[in-house]
Amino acid sequence: MSEVHLSKSKYCRAVQCNKMLWLDKNMPEEKSEIDGQAVLETGIKVGELAKGIFGEYTDIEYNENLFKMICDTQEALKKSPNIITEASFNYQNNFCSVDILKNNKDGMEIYEVKSSTEVKDIYIDDISYQFYILSNLGYKVNKASVVYINNQYIRHGELDLSKLFNIEDVTEIVYSKQDEIKNKIIEIEEYMKQNEEPYCDIGMQCFNPYPCQFWEYCTKSLPENNVFKINKIKKKDAMNLYHNRKISFKDLAEENLNWRFKQQVDFEVFNYEPHIDKQRIREFMKNLYYPIYFLDFETMQQAIPEFDNSKPYQKIPFQYSLHYIEKEGGKLFHKEFLAESGEDPRRNLAENLIKDIPKDVCVTAYNMSFEKGRIKELVEIFPDLEEHLMNIHDHIQDLMIPFSDRMYYCKEMQGSYSIKYVLPALFPNDPDLDYHALPLIHNGGEAMDIFPKIKDMPKEEQKKAREGLLKYCKLDTYAMVKVWEKLKEI
Ligand code: SF4
Repeated sequence: MSEVHLSKSKYCRAVQCNKMLWLDKNMPEEKSEIDGQAVLETGIKVGELAKGIFGEYTDIEYNENLFKMICDTQEALKKSPNIITEASFNYQNNFCSVDILKNNKDGMEIYEVKSSTEVKDIYIDDISYQFYILSNLGYKVNKASVVYINNQYIRHGELDLSKLFNIEDVTEIVYSKQDEIKNKIIEIEEYMKQNEEPYCDIGMQCFNPYPCQFWEYCTKSLPENNVFKINKIKKKDAMNLYHNRKISFKDLAEENLNWRFKQQVDFEVFNYEPHIDKQRIREFMKNLYYPIYFLDFETMQQAIPEFDNSKPYQKIPFQYSLHYIEKEGGKLFHKEFLAESGEDPRRNLAENLIKDIPKDVCVTAYNMSFEKGRIKELVEIFPDLEEHLMNIHDHIQDLMIPFSDRMYYCKEMQGSYSIKYVLPALFPNDPDLDYHALPLIHNGGEAMDIFPKIKDMPKEEQKKAREGLLKYCKLDTYAMVKVWEKLKEI
């Protein structure tokens, strides 16, 4: 077999941006690292599970030698009618492996599996490319569909694959895209022949459908404080400003931006002193009273729900940290809970929570909609604990408000009110509040990834992972205590 030039993933990358594919081939060292390991692992798990969606199947084993995969596919195709997974084909240097292929007597059906909960346009490009290869090889493809996760499915007992997955028939649109695919392949071939780095300005393609890993490289000549650094600005709005040559914060200081964006820009450009609205902060602080509790949950999300009464991608709390002070001038106490990996953590967590937090006390959270949301979900599955859990829920106050409402703002917060920005802005260089100095777990994403894996680790690693989780979550609530103390001084 001659050299393969394109694959499904390369084709999709070029659909997003030809230059991305060119850089990938010619300057891969410029690619930024992204933390995509968890997404990748989820994709693999979902793909493996979905293979069985139509019953027994023949799997074409992955081989670096693609020719071997293509030959194995040809052998499997002879046994029609059957189902083949990873069936592999090549047409004029365009290679694809079809996730699931139904090899019927009267033609084929192809299925592309995604771990997403919706059908995105790029998936249609992906399966259209596969359809193009198969139909040009002379196969009759009667149907093309995308298989994706049904996030309304609630697990009860054994996994029900027919309910866990949605299947959307996209045959019609795939047919309609065949000329487009042919032309795009010719365009890619021409583009990739260029020896010199081609010019391509940044645009919305840099974010859609996926954030491009060459963003840092393509924007390296922009000033450090540029329009894309404005916190929570819509990409479309930032791109419009960029195309109107309003790029640096200095340029933007003259623009009519919304007040939050303007505040971020002006504080940076004019080096303003911190803005502290003492009156509003004191008003806010009147809502907090003793005994005061500082609560933070850690959660995990699984595409394939592991536990009864849970949905795909549901945020399942497995850990909390709790600092508390009984009375004015009182000592700071700490309690915590961390479930056993592999077990449904929710009942145990809920029972411990009501044991650790008495009724009617003041409970604070940072971004309380998250903690409140999880508590409500616990109430739904444990109605016997409703009274106490809802008492906690109803007494939660949000420590984030002084920052999200910009009662307190300084330029070091960089337009953000996340505690990860607020904390170093309020307490610069405090080693006790440095998330980077923590062992193993430094953010919620890492906590979420590691927890379900602990059950499969050797004992020593389990211990380290659990210690890492406990230290991380404890710092989250300790940080809240420090923020509260700071606000109290005002
Ligand atoms: S950053 Fe944008 S322009 Fe640069 S390669 Fe990526 S998508 Fe293309």
